[in-house]
Amino acid sequence: MKVLVTGGAGYIGSITVEQLIKAGEEVIVFDNLYQGHRDAVHPDAIFIHGDLADKAAIEEAIATHKPDGIMHFASYTLVGESMEKPFMYLRDNIVNGLNLIESAVKHGVQRFILSSTANLFDQPERMPIDENERIVPGSPYGESKFILERYLHWMDRLYGMRYACLRYFNACGATEERGEDHDPETHLIPLVLQVALGQREKIVIFGDDYDTPDGTCVRDYIHVVDLAEAHILAMRALADGPSRRYNLGNGRGFSVKQVIETAREVTGHPIPAEVGPRRPGDPAILIASSETIMRELGWRPQYPDLRTIIETAWRWHRAHPDGYEK
Ligand code: UDP
Repeated sequence: MKVLVTGGAGYIGSITVEQLIKAGEEVIVFDNLYQGHRDAVHPDAIFIHGDLADKAAIEEAIATHKPDGIMHFASYTLVGESMEKPFMYLRDNIVNGLNLIESAVKHGVQRFILSSTANLFDQPERMPIDENERIVPGSPYGESKFILERYLHWMDRLYGMRYACLRYFNACGATEERGEDHDPETHLIPLVLQVALGQREKIVIFGDDYDTPDGTCVRDYIHVVDLAEAHILAMRALADGPSRRYNLGNGRGFSVKQVIETAREVTGHPIPAEVGPRRPGDPAILIASSETIMRELGWRPQYPDLRTIIETAWRWHRAHPDGYEK
């Protein structure tokens, strides 16, 4: 199988590329390196330095390499940022995604996987959240993903392009060679580990007055290798099965305070924490039900345990205290 991966130099994309190559697949990475890192791209992947805003560039990449499928990771991904810069999300994520989808359809690509998000579920009526939950995007970021999900629905209906939308809950963890390196970093686990590395003085907890057991937000943390595996299973399933949507998490929630406490145990560092105001756009609790992908594709997370997840991230951050070479 030949797979074109947009955003294959980013965190989840680069680790999915690593897993695809381990599984013996051929990979073409298309990335503008705006947030990604050249060094994160597996050396056996073909690398194209290109921007999805440039429709001719992505069309040429697809026409040249004729992938069997596309995995679309390239995107702005921050809920909080999207509340402050809605146009960047509602314009760029959507227009860039459409340039890609349109080129894929034009060149007869049959399979498409979209990185989608738990931010589709801002007002869940049931917890854990399954695929029947009502979609209420919680931010311009979530809205941009929902709109791409709808476009894919029409591409299947009108052109028979099969798709899978994978709604990630909180991706985290690392492999030996690849991990999380954002600039600026905004995610809880890498920030907490930066405190343990002595690069930050403390972690600020965004609100402790939520309606949760300890007042801090509860999230479902899922190891990035387990996410990568879900992409590979979904891509294979699309070869002879229908389009699908899956929520991806471990089915267990941990509060911000529990994450900090576990990181203290893993690192042996006191990790000072202080409570600050809420971050706009953050729902109190997000926990996934991943029963559907387990039942339909036999997906089983290898690293469901929070402590193991943080240990893998800690190993990578200790070995790469400054992240990838800049
Ligand atoms: N969080 C926090 N302090 C930080 C960063 C994050 O308290 O410095 C909280 C955030 O409010 C959320 C959880 O940690 O409840 C996970 O946030 P992250 O940004 O890692 O992922 P998100 O849930 O936004 O996808």
